[in-house]
Amino acid sequence: MQYRPVGNTGVRVSLLGIGTMRFTGRENAIETVRRAVKLGLNYIDIAAGYSYRSPEENAEAWVGEAIRGLDRSKLVISAKAQPRRGEARVDRCLGIHTRDQMRQCIEASLRRTGAGYLDFFQFWDMSQPSHFEAACSGRDNPLVALREAREQGLVRHIGFTSHGGPDDIIQWLGRVPDFRFITVYYNFTNRYVEEAIAYAYEHQVGVAIMGPLYGGILVGHSDAFDDALVELRSMPVQEIAFRFLFSNPTITTVLSGMNEASHLVENAAIASDRAGLTPGQCERFVRAFQDFTKGEAICTGCRYCDNTCPFELPIYQLMGTYQLSQIFGLPAGDEQLERLRDQHKLDAAKCHACGKCTEKCPRHVPVAKRMKHLAELLKSG
Ligand code: SF4
Ligand code: SF4
Repeated sequence: MQYRPVGNTGVRVSLLGIGTMRFTGRENAIETVRRAVKLGLNYIDIAAGYSYRSPEENAEAWVGEAIRGLDRSKLVISAKAQPRRGEARVDRCLGIHTRDQMRQCIEASLRRTGAGYLDFFQFWDMSQPSHFEAACSGRDNPLVALREAREQGLVRHIGFTSHGGPDDIIQWLGRVPDFRFITVYYNFTNRYVEEAIAYAYEHQVGVAIMGPLYGGILVGHSDAFDDALVELRSMPVQEIAFRFLFSNPTITTVLSGMNEASHLVENAAIASDRAGLTPGQCERFVRAFQDFTKGEAICTGCRYCDNTCPFELPIYQLMGTYQLSQIFGLPAGDEQLERLRDQHKLDAAKCHACGKCTEKCPRHVPVAKRMKHLAELLKSG
């Protein structure tokens, strides 16, 4: 396993980090974390909100059980809480906007993990200016609690995760210089935040990457990539995608939610291999994807748009069908379209283009435009 320093914190983390958002249950979590640690992965990104079933039954608590008995000093644990105005759900560390709520989240993460201290605590999904304000503005804010916890040795370093644009990220790093670690969404299909990653690197702030495989949409082999990278023809897309990230020295660690042992072993082997892609190969890889998708924004099925539609349209499902059929041109997409025809609940024609879903969409998918096209396709079939 290769390791890299997290900015100037003095902490070193494995190039492949342990994402904990896709565990299928307690056993799967314990087995995955222990196997990962044996393979040399030491960075664990946790959240009570992942696989949440109850305050003591969630991914964070399962990680706590998995690390019991392991050498704590060799692990680097990063917890998080989501800053928002409005109703707080402290048990899930969501909607946090006061010092006390944040303190409760820190104490709950410490209790659930039994880790003694948390190497990092990040504001979770700080993607819009209003989220930054909820986290850091006024006197009674969550940042106060994080700084107090740091002084008390309960938290070592602080940071944030974001799906937002590079300008906001750069501005927040400037306004709160004690943010020493960020987690951003970046991969070969979406290089929107590259400028912020470079800024963080220059200012000795660590950078974790989430979404390395674009939500797992593209795996296996594809003629488009084989033709663009003839010399890497035998390599599956997911391996090229990881090598694309590992070759970038401004990236500290890459998170992947691996709940299958085979994926974990394969990805750890790639992160242990120093042979990366050349800049020319990276460029051809990115261009091949752009050609393949015709430059269209792709829905990853993240479901951040859930509960936004006044007509309760299952947006992620309809967008998935649309892109399989109309962007990727796959027969599976056409078969799904056929199935949609008779399902009144999935009637894309109900969309009145209010735009509420796209406001929530980190990928800026033009949902209303695609709903209209989908409605025409369903009607004409
Ligand atoms: S734009 Fe259409 S799909 Fe999106 S929330 Fe509005 S009505 Fe629903
Ligand atoms: S439309 Fe956007 S927010 Fe909704 S599931 Fe797709 S990528 Fe996520």
